[in-house]
Amino acid sequence: MMNSNFDVVVIGGGHNGLVHAAYLARAGRKVLVCERRHLVGGAAVTEEVFPGFKFSVASYVVSLLRPEIIRDLDLPKHGLEILPLDGTFTPMPNGDYLWRVNDHAKTRFEIARHSRLDAEAYDEYGKAMVEMGRFVKPILAMTAPDPTSLAVKGLRDLLSLARRFQKLPNPDKHNQVQLMTMSAADFLDQWFETDVLKATMSASGIIGTFLGVRSPGTAYVLLHHYMGEIDGAFRSWGFARGGTGAISNAIAAAAREAGAEIRVESPAAKILIENGHAKGVLLENGEEIRAKIVSSSVDPRLTFLKMVGAEHLPADFVEDVERYKFRGSSGKVNLALDALPDFKCLPGPGAHLRGAISISPSVDYMERAYDDAKYGRYSRRPYIDVVIPSLTDPSIAPAGKHVMSCFVQYAPYHLKEGTWDEKRDEFGDTVIDTLTEYAPNLRNIILQRQVLTPLDIERRFGLSEGNIFQGELSLEQLFFLRPVPGWAQYRTPIHSLYLCGSATHPGGGIMGAPGLNAARKILHEWKR
Ligand SMILES: Cc1cc2nc3c(=O)[nH]c(=O)nc-3n(C[C@H](O)[C@H](O)[C@H](O)COP(=O)(O)OP(=O)(O)OC[C@H]3O[C@@H](n4cnc5c(N)ncnc54)[C@H](O)[C@@H]3O)c2cc1C
Repeated sequence: MMNSNFDVVVIGGGHNGLVHAAYLARAGRKVLVCERRHLVGGAAVTEEVFPGFKFSVASYVVSLLRPEIIRDLDLPKHGLEILPLDGTFTPMPNGDYLWRVNDHAKTRFEIARHSRLDAEAYDEYGKAMVEMGRFVKPILAMTAPDPTSLAVKGLRDLLSLARRFQKLPNPDKHNQVQLMTMSAADFLDQWFETDVLKATMSASGIIGTFLGVRSPGTAYVLLHHYMGEIDGAFRSWGFARGGTGAISNAIAAAAREAGAEIRVESPAAKILIENGHAKGVLLENGEEIRAKIVSSSVDPRLTFLKMVGAEHLPADFVEDVERYKFRGSSGKVNLALDALPDFKCLPGPGAHLRGAISISPSVDYMERAYDDAKYGRYSRRPYIDVVIPSLTDPSIAPAGKHVMSCFVQYAPYHLKEGTWDEKRDEFGDTVIDTLTEYAPNLRNIILQRQVLTPLDIERRFGLSEGNIFQGELSLEQLFFLRPVPGWAQYRTPIHSLYLCGSATHPGGGIMGAPGLNAARKILHEWKR
């Protein structure tokens, strides 16, 4: 069966595919989005997993979403409301805790309880990271220049980057190089002496990677997580009212308003290739959709090896795609709770439960969690990032009950022994046991639990090897190397086939930048 022609067919209705579609439709293009699942959003979805309990099943907090996207697409008008996530509470096994909040003076006071020197260094560190973020931020919005090409625009972009680097004060220059080369733990060691502070801060350096806090390169991931802003407040994180899916739904509404068509339950099976040109997609139900351009928001393994086919691609490109690293290392445990957890170190309900609760008591603890993963097993005592969004947004749980989201590392996709289907429950128990050491009532207040292993993340969201960012955010896979060297500008070796998801610059997280940058690229080339 043949369908009407589109200008662009977008494969995948995750938030990037939707941002991409919205910008193309606003520019007057006829756009169709084909989403495999019954709902849009990809890893940014809200689902009522248990009656009355609405979970941000995968991603759970937002910060990186580009402010220009919120503005251009008028997302608040389409229902987006971001509620602040206040602080990070880190319980410690010795009965103490570290609790950093958005109130600067309170946090200083709290850190000084652990170390006066660190309280002072914390201010300096915050300022330095803001400067680093300011330097890197414009890079998020640009197409990564190819340093091997002599194209004028690329050379101009590289030159302007070099000039901006040149203008940085010397300490910032040093910090920038250190961030690119050091481990999160080593980088933080230069600033702080309190173990629990370094441990909990280093956690942002390992999210979504198969690296430990002592692995070189993780300092950059630290910065990646620092670049968000909410309502102009740098590095702050928040919840979307109604769960993370509300972000995707708002973007989808803006795309529809601009004229884009979005079809769910429409998995693409193949990209139609004729004489080296993409001509449309073949859906799994046999329907052919013709379009001038195909733009894929799914990862390069699925796009090229499954949907295009190696026979249509240069051999060296196929090798690079095969080399692209996923190595999923995260799991998620979503709990429906009858009451609130009660922490031994700070009993009772309170503001400490409203922010992130981080199980990251020491740098050794974090590194040991990785040691397990290195040798093919999930962490016996994992790093866990917990949030209870129902405290901030009661609409997502029945009255008096709560939703608790636990992001867990490490859960390596490739297990040395057994399969994830066999280990799922055991893994879930490990997470609950770990949390129960800090909040003993937890086990008794769990009504239901959903355990997602990296295999489940792959099956449910179509994220290869369960990597949460559609491929590791490691330095060798960033900027002009993402997803593969020479093809970091949203174009591909197939004419009229583009990439627009997290596997492209500037990478993963609910950011929308890949979708927006790729739309700009297509519109620019269209004009030419
Ligand atoms: C467990 C977990 C926790 C996370 N936590 C956070 C967080 O708290 N904050 C944050 O900023 N980021 C977080 N992330 C990362 C973030 O969610 C992702 O980087 C981002 O959502 C990816 O968006 P995307 O649109 O690029 O890709 P995806 O969301 O992967 O979207 C791709 C879409 O393509 C669809 N698809 C796949 N195959 C096909 C096909 N054959 N045909 C049609 N459609 C197809 C998929 O169903 C999906 O909807 C998390 C991710 C996970 C998995």
